[in-house]
Amino acid sequence: MRSGKDSGPDPADGGRQARLPYCGRFAPSPTGTLHFGSLVAALASYADARAAAGRWLVRIENLDPPREVPGSADRILRALEAFGFAWDGPVLYQSERSTLYREVCEDLKRQGLAYVCSCSRKQIAARAPSGIEGPIYPGSCRRAGLVDRTGRALRLLTQEQAIDFDDRIQGPLRQRVQSEFGDFVIRRADGPFAYQLAVVVDDWQQGVNQVVRGCDLLHSSTRQIHLQRCLGAPRPGYAHLPLVLDRQGRKLSKSSADQPLDPANPLPALRAAWGFLDQPDPPAQIERLDEFWDWALANWTLARIRRTPD
Ligand code: GLU
Repeated sequence: MRSGKDSGPDPADGGRQARLPYCGRFAPSPTGTLHFGSLVAALASYADARAAAGRWLVRIENLDPPREVPGSADRILRALEAFGFAWDGPVLYQSERSTLYREVCEDLKRQGLAYVCSCSRKQIAARAPSGIEGPIYPGSCRRAGLVDRTGRALRLLTQEQAIDFDDRIQGPLRQRVQSEFGDFVIRRADGPFAYQLAVVVDDWQQGVNQVVRGCDLLHSSTRQIHLQRCLGAPRPGYAHLPLVLDRQGRKLSKSSADQPLDPANPLPALRAAWGFLDQPDPPAQIERLDEFWDWALANWTLARIRRTPD
């Protein structure tokens, strides 16, 4: 693994990655059933990959056992099949990858890029200014040299240097990870590896070079790019989709009862998801799933998707 200390100015990996054969993915967390919002993310990531003659992987992000709803991963996979999605290779389960995540954490610690933190939520809340995604960790344990043990978190050392990237839908974004988010958790104090760590390691190891996902993760991208640099991993291209909101203006969650999907009757939901993504109406005579997909993959245009207003 290459040290991130010499990563220097932005290597603009996104451009290089875009010239490789396309590899995309859909990475649901198994916290409920597939709902309309996740159908939109699945559809966009699938159409974008297949329209580019690329690969499309499915990864179940089940890092957090207490949040996992039993049977949910299988229900999501069966629903994807019923909606006509066909993924490449076996489904990857993050719960089976702890050894790899642990090795990556050990490497980062050895290189001085990650450190042990014993701060409680309460201590952080008392000292930390609030940022766009909660408290900005003030680095209290950065130089404490604490021993790694149960009950302590692992944080990634961040830098003040700005990170820029150009989202294919949302346009350019520039953030300073240290002052806007702070040194962030890569392994939680209660044990599980953090989403930010696992998503970067898996996208890298699986060869994913295009990430298409909901806009709720737009602000995670700069932390993920920072971690990619620390690991010497290439940067994928990013496209963040507009979010499907419920009547109260909240993001749909898999556990919410809003807009349940009927896998026995997939076309109306697929048409609605297609329309939500600003794609032109499929011809009215399309009645079968295979006809929809043939037409959709020939007509997919990511550039039509509207940017989410600030
Ligand atoms: N597992 C995340 C979710 O279900 C998606 C992660 C990603 O696409 O990077 O919202």
